[in-house]
Amino acid sequence: MIRKVAILLLLLAIGYVGWVAFLNLPGGDGGPPMAVAHKGAPAPAASAPPAAAAQGALVIPVAGVRADQIGDTFTDARGEGRAHDAIDIMAPRGTPVIAAAAGTVEKLFDSELGGRTIYIRRPGGQWIDYYAHLDGYAPGLAEGKRVAQGEMIGTVGSTGDASPEAPHLHYAINAMAPGEGWWQGTPVNPYPLLVAGR
Ligand SMILES: [Zn+2]
Repeated sequence: MIRKVAILLLLLAIGYVGWVAFLNLPGGDGGPPMAVAHKGAPAPAASAPPAAAAQGALVIPVAGVRADQIGDTFTDARGEGRAHDAIDIMAPRGTPVIAAAAGTVEKLFDSELGGRTIYIRRPGGQWIDYYAHLDGYAPGLAEGKRVAQGEMIGTVGSTGDASPEAPHLHYAINAMAPGEGWWQGTPVNPYPLLVAGR
């Protein structure tokens, strides 16, 4: 009996330490304090812990779009076994795209799938916000430029593999391990972070 109680207490202690470690995972600089899976591990589709909701750190990156107008399309399957790993925010072509979080433009890239894209690394380097299918870039936007949260960075479009009849912003958040480049990272679901507290 005493041994059973001792084992129970030990398990409780281990559980407590694990929970504290979880809460202390990276999340500084306004980034979402989510558990970061390392490259190669399955992407976590878990919703954000309460701490992220309390931060209310992100701005919905399309001007005039409300939280109840977007859906959770993070886990939608796409062609050739690819996961979506992002959310799509529908809006008319030319609608301003604004920075969900502050950061530095790390890469302006034209890709077959994403079309005209922007990669912005947040202060501290642990997170990159990715914006794709843009119709155009904001005037003066360049690699190395700092952008404020809410600043216009481009316009909604359908470049890349998006349907011309359904212009939208493809928005992703990638957790970056030390030394990872803009083309790397581990996707986390932006949806719970965008709708948190709204
Ligand atoms: Zn998309």
